[in-house]
Formats: sequence, C-alpha cells, structure tokens
Amino acid sequence: MLQWPDKLSVTQTQSKLVILDRDGVINHDSPAYIKSPQEWNPLPNSIDAIAKLTQHGFMVAVATNQSAINRGLINEQTLLAIHNKMLNLITQHGGDIAQIVYCPHRPDENCLCRKPKTGMFEELKTYFQHDLKHVPYIGDSFKDIEVAEKAGLQPILVLTGNGHKTLADVKKRQTYIPIFRHLGLAVNAIINNNIKGSI
Ligand SMILES: [Mg+2]
Ligand SMILES: [Zn+2]
Repeated sequence: MLQWPDKLSVTQTQSKLVILDRDGVINHDSPAYIKSPQEWNPLPNSIDAIAKLTQHGFMVAVATNQSAINRGLINEQTLLAIHNKMLNLITQHGGDIAQIVYCPHRPDENCLCRKPKTGMFEELKTYFQHDLKHVPYIGDSFKDIEVAEKAGLQPILVLTGNGHKTLADVKKRQTYIPIFRHLGLAVNAIINNNIKGSI
C-alpha cells in the first residue's frame, strides 16, 4: 500500500533512487512494534543521512512490513501519523521521503507484499516508473537482503536494529553483501559511489 499515492512531484524525477527499510534502519525498533508517533524515535544520524541523500539528488523511498496493522495493534491513521512525524523531522533537516510503501498483512495471510516477497518493490517500480535494478535497498534483517536479491536491487546491511543478528546469517553465505555500522556510513558510501562497504 502506498502511503501517499498522489505525492510524486515534478521535482522527484531524478534518476537516482535509494530505498530504505524503516524499523532498525531509520528508527529504533521494538519487539512490541511501533504503535504511536511517541514510540517512533530516530536512530542517531539517520535523519541527517536521509537529508544528505536528498541534497545529493537522490529520491528516497521506504519499504516496510507493518503487520501491526492487521494484528490489530495500530490502524492506518496511526501509521500515517507516525510517518508524518518521520517526514516532518526529515524535512526540517532538509531532506525528503518521496514515497513510503508498507505491507499491513500478518505472515499467515500469505500476501504478495510482505518481505521477503517482492510486491512492495513492484509497487515502487510502478509508482516511480523507475527500473529498480541495482537500486540500493538498505535493511537490518535477513529478509531485507533476501528481497533485495530477489527483486534485483543492491542489498546493503546496516548493523543497527537486527543487524548484528543478521550479520551471523550473512556470514554463512558465499555472496558478498556491503555492510555498514549505520545508515550514515551506508549513505556516505552510496554518495561516494563506493558501496564496497566495510564496517
Ligand atoms: Mg528492519
Ligand atoms: Zn502484504
């Protein structure tokens, strides 16, 4: 589901796009879910990192699993309020979020959009009219790496949120994944066109 179906503006026609996971990448995650704007609190440097992407001509989108909705813990209005808090903070710092796509479903609903399924990336592709091949997708969970690979994006792991747990799973594999301690360092590497990440 797109958060802001009509948001795309003429200024958002840059060819550069970066897609971010939300919980554990932009804000502190919680095993009890983020259920209110008060519970949504940014990780250090994440707001500035997003602003930096905007200032360097990147469109920034967010793709996030929000099963809290169909678990009955929050409704869509609350999610919108949470995202408005996030967007307000980012715009105050000179950044922008071009679009947010979220999956409201529980795992047992077997939808096509809950990561590691690729449905949200199909939605973003249609919305932006933008090929997602090699577009960076920055996440903290193993399903973020999986979905990026399935959808042809460039997975990037950050070690905030679930990142350290995910690192153990990533290390068992043969394929190379860029890894950064936090979003700020991942963004610096993207801007410098060097995603051969190191921690
Ligand atoms: Mg996450
Ligand atoms: Zn879904």
